[in-house]
Amino acid sequence: MGAHHPERPERLSAIEDQLIASGLESFLTRYDAPLATDEQLARVHPLEYVKAIREYAPSSGTVHLDPDTAMNPFSLQAALRAAGAAVLAADLVLTRKHNSAFCAVRPPGHHACRARPMGFCIFNNVAVAARHAIHAHGLERVAIIDFDVHHGNGTEDIFEGDEQVLMASIFQHPFYPYSGTDHPAPNMHNVPLSAGSGSKELKKAVIEEWLPALEEFRPEMVLFSAGFDAHLEDDMAMLRFTDADYAWVTEQVKAVADRHAKGRMVSMLEGGYALSALGRSAVQHIKVLAGLN
Ligand SMILES: [Zn+2]
Repeated sequence: MGAHHPERPERLSAIEDQLIASGLESFLTRYDAPLATDEQLARVHPLEYVKAIREYAPSSGTVHLDPDTAMNPFSLQAALRAAGAAVLAADLVLTRKHNSAFCAVRPPGHHACRARPMGFCIFNNVAVAARHAIHAHGLERVAIIDFDVHHGNGTEDIFEGDEQVLMASIFQHPFYPYSGTDHPAPNMHNVPLSAGSGSKELKKAVIEEWLPALEEFRPEMVLFSAGFDAHLEDDMAMLRFTDADYAWVTEQVKAVADRHAKGRMVSMLEGGYALSALGRSAVQHIKVLAGLN
């Protein structure tokens, strides 16, 4: 994204470092992310949008898609692999090769709307996973859990009114992208939290809002938009979640996945910009996903 941009390559190194330091690394199986195909992307974005992104991609220098979102000569490949990771992870989990998968990818995806890049995001990775699960594997109900500090407006844009997908989200409000409080459709379960909210407010939102909705929906697979920028050490925003909160919220959702979805979970990295907190929190989340907590 350019020098001094918070969405930087060191984010993935920070997660790698903590996977090694925690000892979790030796329990994981690794896969290289393949490139998503136009067919897979076109389940979420109009094909003209996918083609336009391919055309915007520069062979040198940087182009800006919006004030926060840029592409350099490597960005198209990275974006295609981030979305491809979503597809591969869904395949691995739905063919029972693994129960769960975490995709350590950049760029993130949840602000990417049907036909608009936004907020560091080019393709909506979690949406690509959901539609792949539905179209390629015949699932009828997929839940998306979004605990990034920012509202996943792109995911909402793609799935509002889609009865095959339930989205449960918490985010700081009022805050970028200033959406998520208008309850656009019954399948959207948004819980805006005011600045300064922490563990207590998270737990109340999950127990009172998310879990009843998830129980009623009975998802056949659970996807996470796993952003770690609501951490108290992350100065991108003003929520105050701790490392342990990420384990807790993952445990709550995993219990639903175990009951209804044969434990099938795929998690896509979204935000998280305080490197140490990002790495530690991702490890807490992955440990629960892997059943190693
Ligand atoms: Zn975010």
